[in-house]
Amino acid sequence: MATFDVESQLDVKRIRADFPILHQVDEEQHPLVYLDNGASSQRPKSVIDCLSNVYQRYYANVHRGAHRLSGESTDLFEEARRAVQRFLGASSENEVIFTSGTTMGINLVARSWGDANITAGDEILVTEMEHHSNLVPWHQLAQRTGAKIRAIAVTEDGQLDLDSLPMLLTERTKIVAVAAVSNVLGTINPVAQITAAAHAVGAKVLVDAAQAVPHEAIDVGGWDADFVAFSGHKMLGPSGVGVLYGKQSLLEEMPPFLGGGSMIDTVEIDHFTPAMLPAKFEAGTPPIADAIAMIPAIEYLEQVGLARILQHEQALAAYAHQLLADVPGLKIYGPDVSKKAGIVSFTIEGLAASDIATFLDGRGIAVREGHHCTLPLHKKLGISASVRASFYLYNTQEEVEKLANAVKTTVKFFG
Ligand code: PLP
Repeated sequence: MATFDVESQLDVKRIRADFPILHQVDEEQHPLVYLDNGASSQRPKSVIDCLSNVYQRYYANVHRGAHRLSGESTDLFEEARRAVQRFLGASSENEVIFTSGTTMGINLVARSWGDANITAGDEILVTEMEHHSNLVPWHQLAQRTGAKIRAIAVTEDGQLDLDSLPMLLTERTKIVAVAAVSNVLGTINPVAQITAAAHAVGAKVLVDAAQAVPHEAIDVGGWDADFVAFSGHKMLGPSGVGVLYGKQSLLEEMPPFLGGGSMIDTVEIDHFTPAMLPAKFEAGTPPIADAIAMIPAIEYLEQVGLARILQHEQALAAYAHQLLADVPGLKIYGPDVSKKAGIVSFTIEGLAASDIATFLDGRGIAVREGHHCTLPLHKKLGISASVRASFYLYNTQEEVEKLANAVKTTVKFFG
């Protein structure tokens, strides 16, 4: 069945040895084929060991205790912030806010920057391919303020209709919220181009980088975005931790979002003054061990090399496109493989996405089905659900072949 060799610069066999969870079989002895990386990646042993090590040796609350253990824990937590700063090319560690994930980061900006800067009649520009996390916080902001939501359309070939940008961007546009990579179509959007156009009309830009940071080297300076949000759990790190990058000048002007411990300078019975950055936006006890375990996650990605990871995933996606091309009634959504990350979302005429995914699961193949938190995009595509296979650095050519074979068997089974 294999008609070409996936050309990869990765030693996938060696990489797989670092991921304990991948070496399991189901009750019928099918080895796990994990193709649900868009939802959450798996973790290498170095990340798992780091979490365990923190809890066994270094754990105490941060920024609070006078005792040695709290000092050690705080040092590691702040080292993690500097690791993220380096990873993103941010100019200061004050620009790195630890959050619980992408959703939290976007809500922080919509609440804090949004409430302070958006009024009735202003416009918030999103795109038709956004995840609900990059839509609903803006809807809520619009409901609170009377602002209007506008959207950049998705073209037939799954790209943003950038020809419409000059018409959509006006002096009323106050912020543009755009995904760097679509979690359904895989489309890699030209963030720097969008940012330049938005800044030309005085609008700010928030980039939802949840699907980008795990797969491509990000330089926030190159993007010139005002805010960038992403999650640890999609980039080999723990769940429960994420990052909001913001330009320091903006974060300094913004009021705190959540109130509580850690985010204050002083508190009187009837008022408070907020702390300096980054503490101002980190109310309460942060995800301490999870943030620290971002250090080995980042190190792992850097050692393997993000450019090589993206090339590997794109080669797997290209192979999947090729193997699935002759499946009757199968339609893959999104642009040409050269313009997208390793995400392959598809439907098969006459078959429910849930039936396909359940059938694949019966063969050990984990994919996601449903609307993938992109109801407006699915409506635009004229479908209610799709099946998504999303590849990462540890996936193999053989796994793509298993996917394609199992999809073909599914069609025969239900046909
Ligand atoms: N944005 C995109 C593009 C995503 O794919 C996801 C998760 O699937 C999110 C936002 C939300 O991420 P989280 O649930 O980690 O906050």
